[in-house]
Amino acid sequence: MALIVQKYGGTSMGTIDRIKNVAKRVKRWHDNGHQIVVVVSAMSGETNRLIDLAQQISRTPNPREYDQMVSTGEQVAMSLLAMAIIEQGIEARSFTGGQVAILTDDTHNKARIEDIDDAKIRAELAAGRVVVVAGFQGITSEGNITTLGRGGSDTTGVALAAALGADECQIYTDVDGVYTTDPRVTSKARKLDKITFEEMLEMASLGSKVLQIRSVEFAGKYQVPLRVLSSFDDNQDGSFDDNFRQNVGTLITVDEGDTMEQPVISGIAFNRDEAKIVVRGVPDRPGVASAILTPISDAHIEIDMILQNLSTDGNTDFSFTVNRPDFDKALAILANIKADIEAKEIHGDDDVVKVSLVGVGMRSHAGVASKMFQVLAENNINIQMISTSEIKISVLIKEQYLDKAVKSLHTAFGLDRTEGESKIAGL
Ligand code: ADP
Ligand code: ASP
Ligand code: MG
Repeated sequence: MALIVQKYGGTSMGTIDRIKNVAKRVKRWHDNGHQIVVVVSAMSGETNRLIDLAQQISRTPNPREYDQMVSTGEQVAMSLLAMAIIEQGIEARSFTGGQVAILTDDTHNKARIEDIDDAKIRAELAAGRVVVVAGFQGITSEGNITTLGRGGSDTTGVALAAALGADECQIYTDVDGVYTTDPRVTSKARKLDKITFEEMLEMASLGSKVLQIRSVEFAGKYQVPLRVLSSFDDNQDGSFDDNFRQNVGTLITVDEGDTMEQPVISGIAFNRDEAKIVVRGVPDRPGVASAILTPISDAHIEIDMILQNLSTDGNTDFSFTVNRPDFDKALAILANIKADIEAKEIHGDDDVVKVSLVGVGMRSHAGVASKMFQVLAENNINIQMISTSEIKISVLIKEQYLDKAVKSLHTAFGLDRTEGESKIAGL
């Protein structure tokens, strides 16, 4: 008998038929003698609908009230699934984050899980019930509902798996695993059987939203066996055997394997949510970077790539990127300090994207960057900014070239699916 936490995303819970299908899958696992805790997302589109309602009241809705409301999507989904499981002849009970005591800090809209009291869930499981928990939400020590940020149900799933010492956390979604890149961009994307936590964390941070970043951090920290797999594959019989463990979905592992056999690049991530700001002609003297960036970070705006040009005539140009939703705010802040920092000109471009190559194999291979730049040059794609770390290289390019860049890099780095390999499931 295994204890499994299964998380079902919005598309997997998107219609009543799909919810019934999830219930059937849960039954197969339960019938095989496993203890099952299910974490659900809101039905697809529901969270966006709720956020849109809030924004019709205010562009910056009160954070506490926003959480009270936006958390209801998961509450509806959890009860519908529990009903569907009961219809399958299995005892099930649903609980909100507060009811199973998922305690968070009080950072509304982006709360962090601090503690989970697993006693209630364990008691329910011991009584033979399937436990369904609303994802994406928690509660503060004062009893206020919080939410964990978009995509946060992944983190609920992993956190529960960590607290319960589950044998595996299974993230069921609309594709059958983690691919070399978003399979919606190239049909040549290849499913990975395994990926390391470190690589998955880079992929998620660099824009691959198949897993919420925090869920990967959590899984790495608490060594939670984590698997991404499809909720649309009805052939699985609910056996947690070697065949399942080796062949289904993508396993996120600690093991880097034999680095000699590692491909240099494991995947390509991209992020459309980028905007670039250029501050031209500032005096090139100590303190200038800090004078530009401190007011931006004081406004809780995250800064990503940074570039300072060589100085000419004692002046320099300074560029950096922010998330697109923060673009207008960042420009307004700089307009206010333009005279203080003695900038000649400030302008921005929110028509840019970041494309990144990720792979632990990069550590032992030189020449990845030059090959990447060469491929982009051959495709006439201009690079605006570059940033690197030990296991990734990112470039900022015009959004119109995103597909071309991803596809050509995917081919050039040998990631394309070969004829014999299975086609993408789920799309
Ligand atoms: P869910 O609603 O189940 O949480 P998400 O939409 O959050 O699903 O995540 C699944 C989606 O992530 C896929 O449909 C796919 O388009 C996208 N995605 C982005 N990058 C990747 C990748 N490298 N591998 C697989 N899916 C990816
Ligand atoms: N429903 C929430 C969202 O759409 C959380 C989740 O699906 O993980 O972001
Ligand atoms: Mg998701």
